[in-house]
Amino acid sequence: MANITDLSLSQIKKELDGNKLSGKEVVLAFKQAYEADQAHKTPLNGYIEFFDDAEKLAEASDARRKNNEARGLEGLPLAIKDNILIQGKIATCGSSILKDFRAPYSSTVVERLKNQGIIPVGRTNMDEFGMGSSCEYSIYGPTRNPMDRNKTPGGSSGGSASVVAGKQAPAALGTETGGSVRLPAAFCGIYGLKPSYGTLSRYGVVAYGSSLDQIGILSRDPDDMALLLEHGVGTDPHDETSAALDFSGVYPLKPKNPKGLKIALPEEFMGEGIDEVIKNKVTAFASWFEKQGATVESIKLPILKSTVAIYYIIAPAEASSNLTRYDGIRYGFRDEKASSLEDLYIKSRSQGFGDEVKRRIFIGNYVLSSGYYDAYYKKAMQVRSILKQEIAKVYENYDLILSPTSPCLPFNLGAKLDDPLAMYLTDICTTFVNLAQIPSLSVPCGTSEEGLPIGIQLIGKQFSEINLLSIAKTWHQEEGLKQ
Ligand code: GLN
Repeated sequence: MANITDLSLSQIKKELDGNKLSGKEVVLAFKQAYEADQAHKTPLNGYIEFFDDAEKLAEASDARRKNNEARGLEGLPLAIKDNILIQGKIATCGSSILKDFRAPYSSTVVERLKNQGIIPVGRTNMDEFGMGSSCEYSIYGPTRNPMDRNKTPGGSSGGSASVVAGKQAPAALGTETGGSVRLPAAFCGIYGLKPSYGTLSRYGVVAYGSSLDQIGILSRDPDDMALLLEHGVGTDPHDETSAALDFSGVYPLKPKNPKGLKIALPEEFMGEGIDEVIKNKVTAFASWFEKQGATVESIKLPILKSTVAIYYIIAPAEASSNLTRYDGIRYGFRDEKASSLEDLYIKSRSQGFGDEVKRRIFIGNYVLSSGYYDAYYKKAMQVRSILKQEIAKVYENYDLILSPTSPCLPFNLGAKLDDPLAMYLTDICTTFVNLAQIPSLSVPCGTSEEGLPIGIQLIGKQFSEINLLSIAKTWHQEEGLKQ
């Protein structure tokens, strides 16, 4: 058998269910991989914390199995982004302001997965509050890309991508507001799923942009995503926007042949500003679809050119409101030397938030202020609804949209730190999906000549994530496993 750390979540499930491995052996293998990396001269820094109790939980899980009480996800390890609450564990969102915040309850998704036997093994590094595209804006320092340690893993769920690609976890949860699962997945050469808005409950996920936020999954096999979705979905009384989905029996995925599919390739994402190497990979991926009997057509969707601009109005607007709760009183850091209530707000927030978060709060407050509301926020919301309509029109004629995940290859650590606009532009291909609240899967499609991973997105209609995964499974079996 291969090394335990090389196995996907579904492969581990098979070994555990067949009593070929114990849950404890599995947790230990990933823990050792993490510890070995800690001794590296430039550790990946994907985990903020590897949980001490993971081994104990694995032992308890093994005992359950012995008693024939194994559940659907019994003993499977999972890494979890540091903005998804796990009862009793610290959750910092990579921010000073929440440095000592201990979660009083678990998020619905973690609760559901734990009830089925998942073992949370650690919490992963992220850009502060999910704001960033490189996993460098964290008080815990930057995370590195396992494929090239001088490069960023992408952000904001860079820690989750790094531990999965770096074989320190078989799979991880991340979160998306605007590409934060797909971009790191593409940069690290793994799968990254942004489910439809409403597929997974947001309860217990620290809010960034509430009309955009969604838990996502990072793994090395589409089947792992189906496995976690099957047990994670369902309405949640704590989240009114959660959908009444039933994904029972979706795992294992039935591979879907792309024959007869009509695929749209927006030319806005195949022109200027997109790296040639990436465009060539998209073309090669499109040819694979054609060989399978699908048709791929170039389409014009000019509104896509505006989506990053709309996103960087709407997301900061929502963030500026969501982040008012960090006032030095109710949560997290408080400056004890403040002399008045206002002083307390100012001092706690000034010290607690990093520069990028402050920038978002400024932008958000600016676009929501009475003098500028109509010119920015209202206009952005209008364009957002046009975007939704135009996307719906595309799906009248096509089954899928295909596009690069990132306009550029993984870049050097530090390369965009002083240039927020350049950082924001990394999100040009991903944010429209969040604005339109549809699902998208970033598929690892090989590398550039120098070995840097390239990801391509399969984007579907609302709630068609299982369809995307089933198509990806065919690709994975025929091509992905060869890579
Ligand atoms: N780069 C995006 C931002 O900074 C990522 C957001 C996300 O998906 N969390 O807003």
